[in-house]
Amino acid sequence: MRVAVVGGGAVGVTVAHDLAQGGADVRLYERDEELGDDYTHPRERVEGSSHRAAGVLAPRPTDAVGAEIAERAMDRFEWLADRDHRFDVEPTPQVTLVGADAELKQSALREAVDAARDHGVDVACHDPDSIRDRFPELDLSEVGLAAVTERAAYATPGPGAYVSAMADRARDAGVDCWTGVEAGVSHRGDGPRVDRERFDAVVVAGGGWTKRVLAPTGIRLPLKPYRVQALVSGADYAGPMVHDADAGVYFRPHPEGLLAGDGTVPEEVDPDDWDPRGDDWFVDDTLAAIENRTGFDEGSTAAWAGIATATPDGEPLLGEVEPGLYVATGWHGHGFLRAPATGEVLAEQVLGERDAVAAYDPGRFDGVPEFAVEEGMSL
Ligand SMILES: Cc1cc2nc3c(=O)[nH]c(=O)nc-3n(C[C@H](O)[C@H](O)[C@H](O)COP(=O)(O)OP(=O)(O)OC[C@H]3O[C@@H](n4cnc5c(N)ncnc54)[C@H](O)[C@@H]3O)c2cc1C
Repeated sequence: MRVAVVGGGAVGVTVAHDLAQGGADVRLYERDEELGDDYTHPRERVEGSSHRAAGVLAPRPTDAVGAEIAERAMDRFEWLADRDHRFDVEPTPQVTLVGADAELKQSALREAVDAARDHGVDVACHDPDSIRDRFPELDLSEVGLAAVTERAAYATPGPGAYVSAMADRARDAGVDCWTGVEAGVSHRGDGPRVDRERFDAVVVAGGGWTKRVLAPTGIRLPLKPYRVQALVSGADYAGPMVHDADAGVYFRPHPEGLLAGDGTVPEEVDPDDWDPRGDDWFVDDTLAAIENRTGFDEGSTAAWAGIATATPDGEPLLGEVEPGLYVATGWHGHGFLRAPATGEVLAEQVLGERDAVAAYDPGRFDGVPEFAVEEGMSL
């Protein structure tokens, strides 16, 4: 079986690797010159989201499919970290904080935690007083409810290291990696093609560019690319990963201090014309939130934006859109932490080894509905 994979981010390299391991003859196209990197924050000229991600691996799935994907992804991250010295995962619990006055958010957090626990996730709600000794790095004085996810981690030196480690394994498994090539996808009666060359299957894992890659095929996806942001500050922070649900900010330790993010701008952007720099309002608000929760008031040493992708129901688009033509996108800012599993699921589907995941079927909508971009981290 000859398969082309378009897009060499975290998802694309995983799909390509797994397809080759499953016996397929695979060619991977990536328009960037390199597959992955070992940077702690993004190279400026690289647009792919997997290089620009925060590398937070703190899943809190609320359904059975999500739970299976989350657990499998963590297993595979750990498996790779055990075998490749350039990539590591740093186990660190993740704490979600909700203010004492935010009653609606508190009940939303309780519901989300109950649902996650029903699916086997090691997460629990806590009164802030009961976790003060465990997390002395945090100021919990205004907090009304906290939830701690125990099996969580972050990627080091950065998420690009997963891509490069997986890409090397893909090459070892026989994947022919064509970097620096912008692939054009088409679909005629006899099946999918890349740059006019016929393949038995084509997987488009083009992140925020997926709609554009598919445009020549006439396929329209309910997908909106939007900007999210991250920064690094010099704060010497060594506490847990935190999601401050009041401020809409998350942060974690980082080799150069502290990495923080969200900065969702909930409007569709043109993936060929967007600002890759962090906005001033994002930097100011995020540094204020960090100071409020940790006392650190260091400035930011780097701030950037990247592309996330929204769908009408918040679930991914993962599966076949035309005979032999597959997509993998729509991660709502949580595509990195799921990539080892979503890539595997899609590879197995292409190889005919498993059925499509119905909840992620790209054809589940009635046409292309109008929808608003919803923040991926909201409760
Ligand atoms: C600031 C920020 C923080 C984030 N933090 C997290 C986090 O902590 N945890 C998490 O799980 N997720 C996070 N995300 C989301 C995460 O980055 C994405 O969901 C994930 O990286 C998507 O991976 P992907 O492989 O689908 O897409 P990408 O990594 O974007 O890969 C798509 C690739 O396709 C290539 N491409 C596009 N068109 C073509 C073409 N025609 N031919 C060849 N190649 C093409 C692009 O160059 C790109 O490399 C964050 C995102 C941002 C921007």
